[in-house]
Amino acid sequence: MARRIILANPRGFCAGVDRAIQTVDTILKTARPHSAAAQAHANTNADADGAPHALPPVYVRRQIVHNRHVVEQLAARGAVFVEELDEIPDEAAAAGVPVVFSAHGVSPDVQREADRRGLTIIDATCPLVGKVHREVLRFVREGYEIVYIGHNGHDEAVGVVGEAPDHVHLIEHAADVDGLDFAPGTKLVLLTQTTLSVDETADVIDALQKRFPWIELPPSSDICYATSNRQEAVKLVAQQADAMVIVGSANSSNSVRLMEVADEALGARGTAHRVDDAAEMDPSWFDGVDTIGVSSGASVPDELVTGVVERLRTLGFDEVDTVETIQENMHFVLPKALRSV
Ligand code: SF4
Repeated sequence: MARRIILANPRGFCAGVDRAIQTVDTILKTARPHSAAAQAHANTNADADGAPHALPPVYVRRQIVHNRHVVEQLAARGAVFVEELDEIPDEAAAAGVPVVFSAHGVSPDVQREADRRGLTIIDATCPLVGKVHREVLRFVREGYEIVYIGHNGHDEAVGVVGEAPDHVHLIEHAADVDGLDFAPGTKLVLLTQTTLSVDETADVIDALQKRFPWIELPPSSDICYATSNRQEAVKLVAQQADAMVIVGSANSSNSVRLMEVADEALGARGTAHRVDDAAEMDPSWFDGVDTIGVSSGASVPDELVTGVVERLRTLGFDEVDTVETIQENMHFVLPKALRSV
């Protein structure tokens, strides 16, 4: 019997990731005049040995999107990735070298630090993450306490909680609900990270509603369209597969959730594996597997999925089918500062 691959669709890049990568790409492509000016400035700030400081065309705070390959490719073209703004030298700030905030957003502390340093900020925060930031500010203004379901330490959660640390209460799992304590009558609303598992979040919401029956839900789910669409497609594919491969980095929240959803949908029939690329696949995973499902997280370029398919072909998976659950046509315009470039 022919071994078969089923590709899930939608998969890969979402509109927010696409916009964030295009942001850095556009700066890199148009950097020449700016770099010349920056370099002239740098040349007047030479090292003690007389060597001029080389200023990059752009800095990016944190990974622009959580994918190792994307970051490596942009770094190879000259983008410099930093963890914190204090890694950016003063002469770069003075020369106006742009600093891009990643798709995951930042807390107001980071924005204030950027303002204090006089940095030229281009904000590539996904508009759907920005929406959650605005919801926090609105609900706090209206006197609410906010229960936020998210992953402790994830860039997106850090940014959202940072909007109002005294009023945003982060929980990760249903069991964490026991640790919350609000007096009856406290105005309470629920917000979530954009990249959670839809099913797992439903369990947490259930636990919250049992403990705090008056908690309000946001007008529309914060889990974004791309996250839900990819999870729906993966579930459908997993029902027809004996194993799944999810392409995505270990620090990509939506890729890891996708693997968990796939694993759950496969049940006892098989296992879901997450890989950064084809090289991480172990052929022994596919012993006894006739049909393998393949998908990828929202930060993953499709060429990495192509690589996985090619590798699977060498292992005898000759047929390739696609299961499509919905056609996406979401698109976000570039940050304002780049629209006329
Ligand atoms: S996964 Fe959703 S929230 Fe995150 S960048 Fe993509 S569209 Fe935006």
